Formats: sequence, C-alpha cells, structure tokens
Amino acid sequence: MEIQVIGVQGLPLIRKGDDLPALICDRVTFEDGDILTIASSVYSKAKGFTRDLATITPSADAVRIAAKTKEDPRFVQAVLDSSSDILLEHPFILSEVPSGHIGVRAGVDHSNIEDGRIIILPPDPMGAAAEIRDAIQRITKKDVRVIITDTCGRSFRRGQTGIAIGWAGMTAINDYRGDTDLFGHVLEITEEAVVDEIAAFANFLMGESHQGVPAVVFRNCRVWNGHDAVYFTPEEDIVRAALKKSKKD
Ligand code: GDP
Ligand code: MN
Ligand code: MN
Ligand code: MN
Repeated sequence: MEIQVIGVQGLPLIRKGDDLPALICDRVTFEDGDILTIASSVYSKAKGFTRDLATITPSADAVRIAAKTKEDPRFVQAVLDSSSDILLEHPFILSEVPSGHIGVRAGVDHSNIEDGRIIILPPDPMGAAAEIRDAIQRITKKDVRVIITDTCGRSFRRGQTGIAIGWAGMTAINDYRGDTDLFGHVLEITEEAVVDEIAAFANFLMGESHQGVPAVVFRNCRVWNGHDAVYFTPEEDIVRAALKKSKKD
C-alpha cells in the first residue's frame, strides 16, 4: 500500500467570492477516492467569514477578559461572538463553537490575512466539506472525499497539529470495536479518529506561515467504516466538566 500526498501549488491569495473548488481543480487532476484537505482559513476567506477589527465594539465581558489575556478587546469580542460555550477565560480563551469543536480562541485567527482583519472558522464546517465535494463532483465528475482542517493546540502536549473540523464522503472515525487483533483478542475500545490523522499530516505539508499551500490531496487511502460522533457529549467529557468546575471556583 503506497499513499501519495500532493500539496496543491500555485493557488493565489484567496479573497471573498473566489471559487475555491474551481481554483483547486485547475491545479489538480483528481481521481475517484482522492481525499482533498483544505485549510479552513482559505475556505473562510473565500466565503467572507472574516471580520474587520475596526468594526467591532467590545462588550464589558470582552474588556474584562482581554485585561487578563492581554489581547485586543475587539479580538476577544470576536472570539466570544464565535463561541457557544466558554470553558476557560485565561491564560487563553478555550471555547466551544456551534459545530461542537473546542479550541483555543474559538479558532479565530489573525495569521495569513491583512493587518486589522481576522479569520473566523466556517460556522458550518460539515456543510462546507459537503459543498466542496459536490462542486468537485460537478467540475470533474470524480468522487472526491473532503476534509476541512484547522491548526489546533492539544491538551497535555506542547505543539499544534492539524485537526478535522468538517468532512464529507467518509466517517470521522474508523470503528475497530469488534475487530480481532493479531492474537485473536476482540477490540473493545478502539475508535480511530482517521479524519484527524489525515488532517495532521495535511497540516505538515501546508505549514503555518508563507508556504502558500492551503490544499493537500491524498491518493490511495483505504476506505473505512465507523461513525461521526467525534465530539463527546458534555456528559461524557470529564475534562470539560473539570474545566467548567474550576472556572466556577
Ligand atoms: P489554518 O491552519 O486553517 O489556520 O491555515 P493557515 O493560516 O495555517 O494556512 C495553512 C496554509 O495555507 C499555509 O501554507 C498558508 O501559507 C496557506 N494559505 C493561507 N491563506 C492562503 C491564501 O489565501 N492563498 C494561498 N495560496 N495559501 C494560503
Ligand atoms: Mn492561521
Ligand atoms: Mn486557523
Ligand atoms: Mn495552520
């Protein structure tokens, strides 16, 4: 099994209104089964999910939190606007966004956009992946699977990795429960978060700064079966419960 990984070269700076699938299809000859990963930053720029800091008036809450995190209160307001639940206010804001993803500063990003502007995460990342997949199907007649990625920090470990915030044409998780290992033991727990594994390697090709590679194609990946319930429910998530409790103390 040999997987091919192709960074899409030569994409321009993306602006609101750009047809991202068309721009990518001009630069890649897709095959059925390919997995296309796209950085959420460029999807958001193409769709206009960006904000101008000068137009944001911070609330009292934003001003209060900004004093603790030492950030621009307008930036903090944008983070609050993007958040459906705040798990931690400082030393950094950790919050949930409506799609279920939990991340630092709600994924609001001021890299790779003009000064004074910020990128917010696509509000419907699953819909975004499905929309890109459909557009590529229309343009190329190929059945391509799509993952929308973002770079994200992790608990317990230093260093950020790519993660999947939306996907289409595949399940998030390869469910190994019920499968047998090399010694015949039945696996009872293992659910592999394949979309995150692929997003992480895509992020390695994309880089974080001036590389200009916001899309990566994986060819010859196997197909897997599982489910999409990648986010713990609040009842299942003991780390989240502990954070919420300590926030109250
Ligand atoms: P994020 O992880 O979704 O926040 O995206 P990043 O800001 O880390 O960018 C990921 C990759 O996309 C890097 O290689 C960036 O240089 C590249 N990138 C970001 N914006 C653009 C753009 O408008 N055009 C091109 N060609 N590349 C971009
Ligand atoms: Mn960024
Ligand atoms: Mn980002
Ligand atoms: Mn990144």
